[in-house]
Amino acid sequence: MADLLVTDARIVDPSGVTKGDIVIENGRITAVGPTAARECAGDPERLDADGMVAIPGVVDVHNHMHDDELFPADIDFASETASAVAGGVTTVVELPTQTPVTTPEAVRQKRDDCEQLAHVDFGLVAGNFEDADVDVAEIIAEGTRDFKTFTAEPYLAEDREIVELLSAVGEAGGKVRVHCETQGILDHARAQIDGDDPGVYMDSRPVEAELDAIGRMGWFAEYADCPLHVVHVSSGSGAREGARFKSRAEVPVTLETCPHYLAFSKEDVEELGPFLKVNPSLKSPAEVDRLWDALADGTIDLVASEHFPTHRAERERGWENIWEPYAGLPSIETMLEFLASEGVRDGPLSWQRLLELVCARPAREAGLYPQKGSLLPGTDADVVLLREEPYEVTASKLAFVGGWTPYEGREWSHRVDTVIAGGEVAARDHEVLSDPGDGEFIERGPIR
Ligand SMILES: [Zn+2]
Repeated sequence: MADLLVTDARIVDPSGVTKGDIVIENGRITAVGPTAARECAGDPERLDADGMVAIPGVVDVHNHMHDDELFPADIDFASETASAVAGGVTTVVELPTQTPVTTPEAVRQKRDDCEQLAHVDFGLVAGNFEDADVDVAEIIAEGTRDFKTFTAEPYLAEDREIVELLSAVGEAGGKVRVHCETQGILDHARAQIDGDDPGVYMDSRPVEAELDAIGRMGWFAEYADCPLHVVHVSSGSGAREGARFKSRAEVPVTLETCPHYLAFSKEDVEELGPFLKVNPSLKSPAEVDRLWDALADGTIDLVASEHFPTHRAERERGWENIWEPYAGLPSIETMLEFLASEGVRDGPLSWQRLLELVCARPAREAGLYPQKGSLLPGTDADVVLLREEPYEVTASKLAFVGGWTPYEGREWSHRVDTVIAGGEVAARDHEVLSDPGDGEFIERGPIR
């Protein structure tokens, strides 16, 4: 017997947008499409979508949401996965931030901690690895297969260590994610700067640092025979650089970008100052245009939030001295609304391309498709209804506890109305109805 019947939705699937219904039973989708309601047995709760767009719950594969050493007491996996579900994100893959998650024991500990707090289903990434002295097989046995390393401070790994890590992880069926900026270029650029106002920050991280590192990591991955995931590509040129390896490499290369690299250029820093401090830094308007092209034409594989929570007051210190606050932006709650409004309505994306970028492709990347990232019968009932109405973005209407958003004041057209996670209504109009502990850890085995 069905538990929930969503009627009159405009359902996004890989072939297009069709009017129809979604039948949910025991946390799973049992029927979907124009005639689904007729197949619905029993007397379920009914949810009239009234023509709203229905897409699968977003799968966000890059975010930083739990670190007791780093984040203040009111920011943890509970507060941040609440912000996630409010924004239509029903599966997250959480990355290490400051506290190392570099041993099997640390992965297990973080899993146990996060399971108590999670509003949504989650996976973990191990890292940050500064050398190749890693128990790869045992970490994979703990249910994660992603290993994070850096070509830049503060977790700079030497080239030889990265090659060895790639080799060991590739052999074991895992995947390496790399932060791509070359430290030598960053060091040189930083040494040219003696100011501390927000405007100078962008000059400290030139685009060439990203281009060089993406190129080198592409060759490294091919040499070491290991799948490579390039996190947060910040420029259209970076996407092109990575695409060289997608067309020729023996190993898969996945390119990720984040909403802020599409929403802002370095010219916005004059107005928004420290509220745009992020690594890699924002690039020129021309690079932003090229990145949109790469998003639309398939060069970029997926969009992830790279959510990094801080309080407004912490961030405001940057007006005085931009080197003081942490880099990183709160973005998990606004990612879907941004892409629906500025990507689909006002930009070059179709609904199907949006589905691919934030649902299907990230689910495949995480090894979770079609259970996550699709609305196919038999899969998890994670569904987002998007309401079309003009509104102005404001932090006071978000569930996020930090009290700010870089998108403050932007005029958007699509708002997350209702979020269903595991068959239950988990959020309505950014009010969170789920509880900590509702989400489950998702074990992800080796790729091959
Ligand atoms: Zn990150």
